[in-house]
Amino acid sequence: MELQVAAKYPFLKESANYLKETGVTLDQLVQGLSYESARLAGKERVFEALEDGEVGDHPMLTKVDATKELLSYPIARMIVSAVADRGFVRRYAIAESKKANERFRNESDQFLMDVASELGLTITKEDGGFAVNFADFLRFSATMRSKSWKLVNQNIVNGNVLVSKSRLSRIVEQMLTEKISAELPLEVTDQILDAFRPTTEEIKEILEEKRKEKKTEGMGRLSIVRLPPCMKKLLDMIRAGENVPHSGRFALVAFLHTLGMDSQEILDTFSTAPDFDPSKSEYQIRHITGDISGTEYTPPECSTMRSYGICYDSDQLCGDGRIKHPLMYYRVKGRRPRSRK
Ligand code: SF4
Repeated sequence: MELQVAAKYPFLKESANYLKETGVTLDQLVQGLSYESARLAGKERVFEALEDGEVGDHPMLTKVDATKELLSYPIARMIVSAVADRGFVRRYAIAESKKANERFRNESDQFLMDVASELGLTITKEDGGFAVNFADFLRFSATMRSKSWKLVNQNIVNGNVLVSKSRLSRIVEQMLTEKISAELPLEVTDQILDAFRPTTEEIKEILEEKRKEKKTEGMGRLSIVRLPPCMKKLLDMIRAGENVPHSGRFALVAFLHTLGMDSQEILDTFSTAPDFDPSKSEYQIRHITGDISGTEYTPPECSTMRSYGICYDSDQLCGDGRIKHPLMYYRVKGRRPRSRK
């Protein structure tokens, strides 16, 4: 494998071997004077993921530049691991795989198939496209929003789904996101934590700020004061990382969706939870909102909420005889005249 190719796709096994062959030690990478520019490139890579949502393009024409680019990948992974934030791991994984997808456009069919196989996709070349194993297609297209990804809209032949090169690239992008998300965070030593402390502190502050913005942004179109007590409680519990029963998560997602929030906005609202698992939450949310299942679920009525034990903190309005459904509470509260002073 050429150095430039390894630098463009550092997540491949051959690229990792290439890295090993350079003979650079962890000590050198973390503290060596001659690796300062690689460390800067690694930091830049992480900040691009954080701020732009995609890793950037950097010069790789000379051997020095390509080596720096290759080394920036393990450094970026160390920094992301030192931050140790699951939401950020996911963001970084998406940023890396987006860039890879963009680069696949300029690669041969065979190269893309090799990458797909290495990541575990069962695939063959067919006339005018690629045949992807049915189960693999279902698994890796589960989070795609567009209707054109739904199974009913696929061309299925002999148990395989026929896809174009751009579709295959998108599937590989998703596989890569899952792979990188699963690999990180790595265990990091005190030496790594110390070396990157100023950077990781800065990232944590930015993440905190972004989360504060999202908290108000996502709920912006909803009126917090009109939320029924059960939904308010569920939202507070999720944001505090408390254990919320499945029925509670279901009810809240369906409630927020019915009031007009889309899957991404709901995901952003949940992302402030300390135990936030983006990939699991994304799947569950998209299932309830109908992105995956094709069925848009509505929240349960009050009697069902009570039977599940999630009719939390019911108040005077809940008890005035009119409220049969949390959505009714939200509407009635919106119509209530304000008390005059
Ligand atoms: S009565 Fe209905 S709206 Fe009020 S807290 Fe219980 S479930 Fe929610």
